[in-house]
Amino acid sequence: MAMTALLRLQEVDLALEKVARELDELAEALRDPPILAELAQNIARVESEIHRLEVRQRDLELEVEGLTERIQDLEGRLYGGLITNVKEIEAGQQKAEEMRRRRSHLEDELLEIMVTLENLREDDKSLRRRLQEEQARWQDTRARLLEKQASLKDEQASLEVRRKRLAASVGDSVLRTYESLRAAKGGIAVSRLENRVCSACGVEVPRSVERAVRYEETLTYCPTCGRILVDT
Ligand SMILES: [Zn+2]
Repeated sequence: MAMTALLRLQEVDLALEKVARELDELAEALRDPPILAELAQNIARVESEIHRLEVRQRDLELEVEGLTERIQDLEGRLYGGLITNVKEIEAGQQKAEEMRRRRSHLEDELLEIMVTLENLREDDKSLRRRLQEEQARWQDTRARLLEKQASLKDEQASLEVRRKRLAASVGDSVLRTYESLRAAKGGIAVSRLENRVCSACGVEVPRSVERAVRYEETLTYCPTCGRILVDT
């Protein structure tokens, strides 16, 4: 039996493990970066605040308009000679004064809201710009990762084909031994014998073992680490 087929099978298995690890890493790397969700959240927060303030601004504007009309109306009556009673005039003037104070208070608030809104709209713009940049960057990265993923999957598929061929060539019983050793020995079931030394554990084997590896048809194991020895 060609022991080198067993060695090649092990090489293919190790390559398959490496590809699987890389595919796992890629799957992890292909998740959307948290910054995108963070930025989208910030934008939503800023925009809902803008909306709230715009509603408040409209309410205030309406109230200011209403007060202005009422003040004009009242003053028209006060100074148009319609009201002649001194007490009524004084009360009317006081009322007009109260409304002016209220209006000026509302106008202060309006001004404050307009300044805040201006800042928030700037924030919104810069957050949106930032999100666009991050998205563009992520698109590039993602495209590169997907390309790499596709080529790894191709590699994986061709390794699987080679594995099937090699597995068939070593036969079921040897394959079972190989599989159980591979599981028990950290993925390395087969070891090259180089100058009578097991390359996996580094221990020299007796000459009888060397002869068996070279000339016998059955599997020969390293007396130290228990791996299948292959002559090279
Ligand atoms: Zn060994």
